[in-house]
Amino acid sequence: MTKCPVCGVNFQKGDYESLAKHISQLNGKNDPFHVGFIKDYIPMDNPDSPQFPSKLKGFFQINGNSLADWMTSVFVNRFYGEKPHQFMETMQRPKKSIFLGFGVEYYFFLKQKLKSLSYVMAKTNYDDVQRFEAKIIMPEFLNDGTEGKSQFSLLFKMCETLGVNKDTIAASSPLPPTLHSVKLWSSIAESDPWIEVMTSMNPLDILYSPKIKEKGAKTFFYGEGVLTNEWIPDQAKEFLAFLSDPSRDFAFEGLKVIEKYAKELDAIESVQAVFIRSLDALDRHLIARVTRARQYEGKA
Ligand SMILES: [Zn+2]
Repeated sequence: MTKCPVCGVNFQKGDYESLAKHISQLNGKNDPFHVGFIKDYIPMDNPDSPQFPSKLKGFFQINGNSLADWMTSVFVNRFYGEKPHQFMETMQRPKKSIFLGFGVEYYFFLKQKLKSLSYVMAKTNYDDVQRFEAKIIMPEFLNDGTEGKSQFSLLFKMCETLGVNKDTIAASSPLPPTLHSVKLWSSIAESDPWIEVMTSMNPLDILYSPKIKEKGAKTFFYGEGVLTNEWIPDQAKEFLAFLSDPSRDFAFEGLKVIEKYAKELDAIESVQAVFIRSLDALDRHLIARVTRARQYEGKA
């Protein structure tokens, strides 16, 4: 089945003509999300032109590459290409406020991530998939920082150092873009098949993978000197180092699992569509981190 990579409506397998018609109709109505999709992935002056369906099909064509390679290159182009995402730019020479913006918005992302991965475990019958997700989920629930580390425990330590404690974070709300994205991930988790739920979440870890440098990324999610910069609190360095620790880098392992089952379950097109939807949600969440940081500026 083909799905709209923006709103998720279904089309017959391989029916790029109908998908193109749907996207260009909503583009004509100035729907910002469908307009944005064309702008981001298939830039052309006139999406009503007869070339649009074949260009759209070309974008999704995997050709000689693997599905994992296709996902990697779409991800890297979107977030780490010639013009890296605003969040990555901010993190090259970070002010302290960005660590608070990052930490507080990421807290809400991480809560949803663990729910989504738990849905994958509940919905799938495959042991290897359950084991893979369990590896990511368990430390977050079991390690409170006294013995083993977790993203949650390091995030709380980082924010506490910068003046915002755990209770304040838990009692706050995410900014609207993060909330909007969390609602999308939550609705995918509840309604869609496990392979799509998995695709909506696990590949987003590419953002923190040290391997992206080999995959054509022009930069990393924090600047080269950040971990040695004496102005940056140790707790922030520890959080960043933990997120990008090669021994906990499951992003590409996850892509392999997704690829294996997308083929087996004949779900490549729906996996591609949900992947694009989820990148958009990630993009909005990353912008919220920067916006939140501005709110903290002068206070941190
Ligand atoms: Zn649509």
